[in-house]
Parts: sequence; structure tokens; C-alpha cells
Amino acid sequence: MALTNGGIPAHGLPAAQVLAQLSALKEHDVRWRDGRAFTLAYSAGAEVGALADEAYRRFSSDNGLNTDAFPSLKTIQNDVVGIVSGWLNGGEDAAGFMTSGGTESILLAVKAARERGRTERSIEHPNVVLPASAHAAFEKACYYFGLQSRRIPVAADWRADVVAMRAAIDADTVLIVGSAPQYPQGVIDPIEAIAGVGAAHDINVHVDACMGGVTLTYLAMLGYRIPPWNFSVPGVTSISVDLHKYGYTAKGASVLVHRNKRLRQYQTYVTTNWLGGMYGSSGIMGTKSGGPMAAAWAVMNHLGDDGYLRLTAAARRATERLVAGIVGMAELTLRAVPEATIFSVGAVDPAQLDVFAVADALWRRGWYVDRQGPPPSLHLTVNAVHEDKIDEFLGVLRSAVDEGLQSAKTGDQGAYGTVE
Ligand SMILES: *Cc1c(COP(=O)(O)O)cnc(C)c1O
Repeated sequence: MALTNGGIPAHGLPAAQVLAQLSALKEHDVRWRDGRAFTLAYSAGAEVGALADEAYRRFSSDNGLNTDAFPSLKTIQNDVVGIVSGWLNGGEDAAGFMTSGGTESILLAVKAARERGRTERSIEHPNVVLPASAHAAFEKACYYFGLQSRRIPVAADWRADVVAMRAAIDADTVLIVGSAPQYPQGVIDPIEAIAGVGAAHDINVHVDACMGGVTLTYLAMLGYRIPPWNFSVPGVTSISVDLHKYGYTAKGASVLVHRNKRLRQYQTYVTTNWLGGMYGSSGIMGTKSGGPMAAAWAVMNHLGDDGYLRLTAAARRATERLVAGIVGMAELTLRAVPEATIFSVGAVDPAQLDVFAVADALWRRGWYVDRQGPPPSLHLTVNAVHEDKIDEFLGVLRSAVDEGLQSAKTGDQGAYGTVE
């Protein structure tokens, strides 16, 4: 009996049966716990995954909307934000909230900048100056909240062109953006220069460290030389860090940290203009599951610095070995040397090899990579689970490239996210 034909059963089905059907539904999903996905999901191993699941289960239906009723979630949020602020050199004054993900963190950073511009400078038609490489979530935020997005082409090394960004700022600019690293090519924008421009104009400067917040922190501790990117840089006003990526926590967890409470006040929303009394919320959501919050708290405390050092080192080693293998393939070209653990790859001769056909061939073999452009490229997000999978993947990639060379057929351009 199928549950997926669009109707609720007239008579409820036994729990064992619905669970069996859920398992069956997953049959064709990418096997990310086996390292088959270079995007979307991250694994620190079965033991950490089980801890996240158990913590999530215990808080899944508790509601973070009002922490008066759930002081546990208030403590959990304070602890998690405190840990992330520490990673970011936030000092005593830094203040933030947990959100449901990088997109919500970015939406709120943009909303806070708009609100500050409106309140402090009476700006009615605000704009945001950001590199072409900044995440799509900024575009979504500008669209949702009525700001103009001023996308500035990146420099030849894919980093933000700060001179061009400065030239695009005017009296209505409320925010400029840099990423550490930016998603498409995995390089770190010149945050010091961007923040200097922002400070000179006294506008918000957001650093999108959704990908890099954990990784760059621990790479620096491991001795890698990382250019300054966090609150140690004067002028940076807010930073987003996703925990459900390289924090290896359950999905639904990110943190937005502001340099101080004065800047954070523009993130929140309060109203009494209805019949239900005072309503305040820190983020986009109303009712908010405690599951992702508790899972993040549990995993971060369980891993500790030594756990994150080990996982970050493993992800970085895997990245370096993968890059070396790909550089050894004559048909492929690395877009940029990755500064963290994400990078992209194109075809040396796009007329001879369509990289999207390579992605199709990989997926037929059970491996999932992202497709992006312009220019047409494959994107790989490497995490700790990949460390012992690199040789196997490079072999599969070789055969997928060979298949791509033989087929004249062009591959599906795919999408980072979908609407169905
Ligand atoms: C993943 C990502 C986002 C968006 O985060 P979601 O958790 O997918 O909403 C934003 N910026 C960067 C750099 C990212 O990698």
C-alpha cells in the first residue's frame, strides 16, 4: 500500500509500516554518509551522527519561539552563540542568535542593515554592494526586503574587487559584503579592505562565513596562514556561520553574530499591533524546533576543540589530495586554489568536454557533485567523511571524464537548489 499517492489513509497505518515505507523512499537518495556527496550534507561519522539524532529527538517538538517556557533552549542558544563568538574573536560585546541556516542568517543581516539605515540615516531606498560571488541568499534577501542588489564583478583571481565596490557605494548604501570563503571558487575575499571601506562610510559590513566559520578557525589553529576575516578586523559588523555544514550538527542550525548589542537590535522584530499581545522574535520563524539547537549544543560540546581540529585536518587533507588528483587530469582545470575545503573545476576545452555531462556520469555511478556557472563548472564541498574516499572517487571521476569525452551529448546544467 502506497502512502505517496496523495491521500491520507482512511485508517491509520501501523508505525512499523510507515517507517518501512520511509526507508524505502530513501532508496535513491545520495549516500552522503558513505562520502558520495560533495555537497549538501556533512558527516563526522556514525557516532557523532547518532548523538545529533538523539539530542534532536529529545527537543524536536520543544519550541524556541519563547524561551521563558523553555529555559533549556535559552541556555542552549547562549552557549552555542558564545562558542561561535569565541571562534570569531567577538570579545565581550558580541551578541547573536541561532537561526535555521545560512539563508536565514543572511536574510537577517540584510534586514538589520536596512533597519539601521532607516533608523539612523532615514534611508528609504537602500542598496547593498556585494561581489558577484556572494551567495544567492543575499539576492533573496534584497528581493524579500526591498533593497537594491549592486553586484560587482570579481577580480581575475575570483576575489572581490574592492576598488570597484567602493566606487559603487553611494548615500543609500547600507551594507557591503565579503565572504570567507566565497562559495563558487572557494577563495577568501579581501575582508580587511572591504571592512575598511565599510568603516570609512560607517555602514554595515557582513562577512559570510557560512562555509568557512568553523574551518578557517581550526585551520588557523592547525598553523595554516589565513588572512584576517573575523571580528579581529575593525569595521566588520556581522558574521554568519553555519553549524549544519562544517559544525557537523543536524540540519537547521546557523548563527548570526553582531559586533555588539546595539547592532543586533536591528535584527529582532517586536509588535503589539494585533489582538494577541506582545509578540517578539529574533528571526524569520515563529515556532522554532528545539531539535537543531539541542543537536548543535550536543555535537559542539562532544567534539570540542580537539574534535574540530581532527575533522578540519581530515577535510583539508582530503581537499589537498583531491585537488592534486584533479590537477593531474589533463582535461580538467581548477578554477582557483582552495583556501579552505571547497573548490570548483572546469573543462580545459569546453568544446571537447562538457563538465555537466561528467556530473551526469558521476551521478549514474552514485556520486553527487554540484554544477555551477558562469563559467560552467563542477563544485565540490569536501568534508571529513571524504578522507578515505579520495582514491575511489578519483577513479570514478576518471571514468566519468572518459565517458564525457566520448559522448557528444551535453549534460544537464542542474541547480544548487530546486523549487519542486
Ligand atoms: C550554504 C551557504 C549559504 C546558505 O546557507 P543555507 O544553510 O543553505 O541556507 C550562504 N553562504 C554560503 C557561503 C554558503 O556556503
